Amino acid sequence: MKDIFRIAIDGPGGAGKSTVAKEVAHALGIDYIDTGAMYRAVGYKIIREGIDPGDEKAVEKMLSETDIDFVKGDVLLDGEKVNGQIRTPEVSEMASLCSAYAFVRKKLVTAQRKMGKTKSIIMDGRDIGTNVLADAEYKFFVTASPDERAKRRQKELSEKGRGVSYEEVLADIIKRDHKDTTRRLNPLKQAEDAILIDTTGMTVEEVVSKILKEIK
Ligand code: C5P
Repeated sequence: MKDIFRIAIDGPGGAGKSTVAKEVAHALGIDYIDTGAMYRAVGYKIIREGIDPGDEKAVEKMLSETDIDFVKGDVLLDGEKVNGQIRTPEVSEMASLCSAYAFVRKKLVTAQRKMGKTKSIIMDGRDIGTNVLADAEYKFFVTASPDERAKRRQKELSEKGRGVSYEEVLADIIKRDHKDTTRRLNPLKQAEDAILIDTTGMTVEEVVSKILKEIK
């Protein structure tokens, strides 16, 4: 194994990327970067400030006065940890909306690339293997059926005390998949050299060990 290596994990929402990436990071003793959390932090600030997401100039101005970082498992919005606030369906939708703006992607991608320069990392998102770390040593595309992803998300939300119906979660997933795969800039797509893992019916442990096997 090289001294410094980068692992890229892409895939649609609810496929289990972050759970798996965190465990792989732990097993290998490297840092995990959740790029979705960075887009969510931008979406969260848009909601908190009451900005119209369709007003491109207003979003751009806000972003120019915003600092987003990901440090030791925490997403920092202007220095404040916002891990808890960003996991809501409203923030998911806003993150997906604002991630289509070129200036949002440029700012976050620049920060993400810097993170992979000096140390080994595992980074998950939508455009890591195709764009952010196009030269990553290892690339995986982790997916699962919409039905399975909706069930997992619903379970996750209900564990947090948020009762959302299966139909509602499934509709959100399908809507976000569509937005993420059809946007003009760096849409969600499997990199040609990425290994495809369909996690439908697989346990987290099985997915983690499949990835570790490919790396070691
Ligand atoms: O992964 P997560 O569901 O937290 O991502 C939230 C949203 O952020 C996605 O739906 C997508 O629109 C956007 N995103 C992105 N590029 C990434 C990671 C996330 O556009 N690398």
